Amino acid sequence: MASESYLIVGAGVFGVSTAYELIRKYPSASVTIVDRDAWDAESRVAASWDWNKVVRADYDDIIYCKLALEAQDIFRDDPLYQPYFHQTGIYWICRSDYAGEVIDNYKKLGRKAELSAVPVSEARKLYGGLFEDADYSGVKDVLVNKTSGWANAGDALRAVTKKSIELGVKYIVADIESLQFGKNGACTGIKTAKGHVYLASKVILCTGAFTPKLLEQAAKASGKPAISAGERIVAAGITTGMTTLDEESHKRFAEMPVGVQGYTAAAGPFIGSLPPTRDRELKWWGQKIFRNTQNILGRMISAPPPEPDYAQWKVPNPLKQDIDYANHVFYGKNGASWKMEKHRICWDAFTTSSDFIISPHSGAEGLYIATCGSFHGYKFFPVLGKYVTQMLEGQLEPELREKWSWDRERPGPENNPDWPRYEMRDLLDVKARL
Ligand SMILES: Cc1cc2nc3c(=O)[nH]c(=O)nc-3n(C[C@H](O)[C@H](O)[C@H](O)COP(=O)(O)OP(=O)(O)OC[C@H]3O[C@@H](n4cnc5c(N)ncnc54)[C@H](O)[C@@H]3O)c2cc1C
Repeated sequence: MASESYLIVGAGVFGVSTAYELIRKYPSASVTIVDRDAWDAESRVAASWDWNKVVRADYDDIIYCKLALEAQDIFRDDPLYQPYFHQTGIYWICRSDYAGEVIDNYKKLGRKAELSAVPVSEARKLYGGLFEDADYSGVKDVLVNKTSGWANAGDALRAVTKKSIELGVKYIVADIESLQFGKNGACTGIKTAKGHVYLASKVILCTGAFTPKLLEQAAKASGKPAISAGERIVAAGITTGMTTLDEESHKRFAEMPVGVQGYTAAAGPFIGSLPPTRDRELKWWGQKIFRNTQNILGRMISAPPPEPDYAQWKVPNPLKQDIDYANHVFYGKNGASWKMEKHRICWDAFTTSSDFIISPHSGAEGLYIATCGSFHGYKFFPVLGKYVTQMLEGQLEPELREKWSWDRERPGPENNPDWPRYEMRDLLDVKARL
């Protein structure tokens, strides 16, 4: 493997974690990351580039619970990740048996942690009553896990990218338009929008929400319909918003846990509230998850808006209201006077089961897919590269190979609360729609 050359498109957590793993395992291999944004740019389109992300192992799916524990141990102990992890705990308002299932998973995995299912009347009083005025309608109990927390997402991403470059990874800023194929049909490289070609023995797409569009472009340019993602991957957007707390509120909220409002699939996605950053900014993500379906070379596909920055800072009012709603269901009267600022639309790649795709692409040898964070991928940053490398080497254990496969049977999206149920065009300002 040391003589292999690896081209990784996309410098989010999937791509960077893979590059970091490969360069440590094979210091003399050629490992190159290509991304449309510089790794230290002021603003990036990557979902992984963010002020903060929840880092938790509170999963009802035992496989992700186990992987998240593995990742969290690294966040907690590895000097590269440790400065960015904050073990604030999590306060998860549950409308199903979620708390019990998570506690069971910890038990099955033999993992001891301070976590419990707390009755609502007791939970309201925790953390100085920060969540006293939250919406508890239909709530069964509250999962309190003192070992969960959050990470300074963009800072950690920058640190691991910088370290990878120091170890020998090349980083190229370029917009990739298509893929290159050899005479035998194998993928041999990538082509930029400016026409430059880069070749490698393995091409790994870690392109997040842009993946279906890129594959469609490559399928059309090469005349190989099998390259297209088909129904496997859907690009979806969600809004985040922040408020800067005044000193008084900051004193009260500085030590808060991550807050989650959990809903059932019938009601909608779970909503989150993250503790204040060093700039005293408290963040939410909203409940409206949407596609942006457009005609890409004759096929209707969801993709981020075509602007180079995905128009991520142009947030229409109906989506800003989604953040007001999120504030209301967490803090009620306590947050009623907060001014909402810094809205962003963040794009990620989804599968119907919310499973990642970490797999060879069956349409061409030499082509691999490692993405589809499905709105929960960040927390696995420290371990993703290990599993992508196992996949590249045919070493993934069968359970994971099956779960993350390019070609597998997928459930319908009905039971997935996070599946995008809106179209972006229906959520624009009325004026903008005319
Ligand atoms: C609002 C929001 C909140 C979230 N909260 C959490 C959370 O709290 N905890 C958690 O664990 N997960 C969370 N997630 C999910 C997590 O952020 C994503 O699953 C994960 O970051 C996806 O990583 P990625 O590497 O696949 O994609 P990305 O981070 O999006 O990276 C893809 C990269 O590919 C590059 N790229 C794409 N196409 C091209 C091209 N053609 N040419 C060149 N470069 C290209 C992009 O520039 C980008 O840098 C959240 C997601 C969103 C949207």
